Amino acid sequence: MTQLAASLPMSARRLVEAVVSAQSGAPGSDTFDVTDPATGDVIAGLMDAGPAHGERAVDAAAEMFPAWAATAPRARSEILRRTYDLMISNSEGLAALMTWENGKALPDAEAEVAYAAEFFRWFAEEAVRTDGQYGQAPNGASRTIVTQHPIGVAALVTPWNFPAAMATRKIAPALAAGCTVVLKPAAETPLTALAIAHLMRDAGLPDGVVNIVPTTRPGQVVDSWLADARVRKLSFTGSTNVGKALLSRSADRVLSTSMELGGNAPFVVARDADIRVAVREAMVAKFRNGGQACTAANRFFVHSDVYEQFATAFEDAVVGLRLGHGLHPRTQIGPLVSTRAVAGVQEWVERAVHSGGHVSVRASLPDLPGAFFAPTVIRDVPADAAVLQEEIFGPVAPIVRWSEDDELLAAVNGSDLGLAAYVFSGDLAWALRTAERMDAGMVGVNRGVVSDPSAPFGGMKQSGIGREGAREGLRAFTETQYLSVAWPANA
Ligand code: NAD
Repeated sequence: MTQLAASLPMSARRLVEAVVSAQSGAPGSDTFDVTDPATGDVIAGLMDAGPAHGERAVDAAAEMFPAWAATAPRARSEILRRTYDLMISNSEGLAALMTWENGKALPDAEAEVAYAAEFFRWFAEEAVRTDGQYGQAPNGASRTIVTQHPIGVAALVTPWNFPAAMATRKIAPALAAGCTVVLKPAAETPLTALAIAHLMRDAGLPDGVVNIVPTTRPGQVVDSWLADARVRKLSFTGSTNVGKALLSRSADRVLSTSMELGGNAPFVVARDADIRVAVREAMVAKFRNGGQACTAANRFFVHSDVYEQFATAFEDAVVGLRLGHGLHPRTQIGPLVSTRAVAGVQEWVERAVHSGGHVSVRASLPDLPGAFFAPTVIRDVPADAAVLQEEIFGPVAPIVRWSEDDELLAAVNGSDLGLAAYVFSGDLAWALRTAERMDAGMVGVNRGVVSDPSAPFGGMKQSGIGREGAREGLRAFTETQYLSVAWPANA
């Protein structure tokens, strides 16, 4: 264990010990290592689940479904609320654990724990807001009662970039709706989801309601779930390519699916924007989580009149970014998730330069062996460069010049993806008009963050299907049923 890992808070170690010892009783001999991406050191060995383990998880979820669905909304709500309290009281340990396995800087991990916990608080409140409709058929011959039912066992699949929030954004609404779940976290970061499930047990959640299945064989485990008639919902967050493959496999059983997929967010700066605010928010929109966010600003469109002013101030801020081990108190940006990710981002930079852009600044790399990539700004990338169609998923900021509204919108909307977008302008009416014309499920107006548990998170086009968070997040785990009741005229 490295010196830094040795200085982890006891609370983080205790969480790891608890999840590893809970796993050690599980049948099966294969194991896999979870490693620290900043050093390559092994954090823990976990049982590597195969389809048989996945099936046992569905057995447990299916057995518990009738009892959990019948549990009073207030009782379900209180378990969710206690989980929120436990995540907050354990936030130091959870954040350190997440940094350890994911690499992200501790302030990013702390912010994620707070955000992830909020899904339990929000859906604890939503769990008791059950509603329906009672109506009269137009001809008066029947009454109509419309209700929502929990859809059943839900299969949840989550990525490594937000190991806590992507799990709680699905678990909390599923449980609030009365569903039980099986969840497959990414193999890079399974400990955070296991730690949250551990806290849920402490909050009073009965065994079998939430079943976490870590595996290095995602295709095998998830395929077994898609083929299992007891599984009634797939909620997936990850890349568009894997999402498309799962959608086509879900077609066989006409499975209800929710898809939160990749992004290619434009960050638009108008000539009347407050440049100080735009640069401050650009640093958040681009470099939060080291650029490994589906909502990360992926393409900067800056009006010609303020191009130089914005680019220079942005470059000054980027050069000053401090990289290091995520647990180090001065670190602002940790490593990428793997050395493979570093190679992918490097290739992206080379292609952007090949298309006509030029690297204007790079921050300094730390003296560590891990998967680090220096934050980089690339100026003068042509608006039609093919490379702007791709998700960078790293700390690289390509800047494009624009001057006409229509030309800007053609470039912004010329992508198959449509998750987040950002608009900066001193003219709110222009900003709103521009936002409305953008193919994006979420638009930040003069701010660089769009995520909020009370707002519907999701994308247009190939960025996904459905929304998470808000009321809509709960509806994704329910089926609508209506009763048509005879209403004889003279009864
Ligand atoms: P990924 O698609 O490689 O993996 C996501 C999950 O799918 C992981 O759990 C992985 O193990 C699993 N998986 C991989 N191959 C599979 C298969 N054949 N069958 C079943 N499951 C499989 O994505 P990633 O690299 O972990 O995450 C990054 C991507 O996720 C980016 O594209 C990012 O934009 C996207 N993302 C989207 C959102 C959103 O809310 N829209 C949020 C976070 C991340």
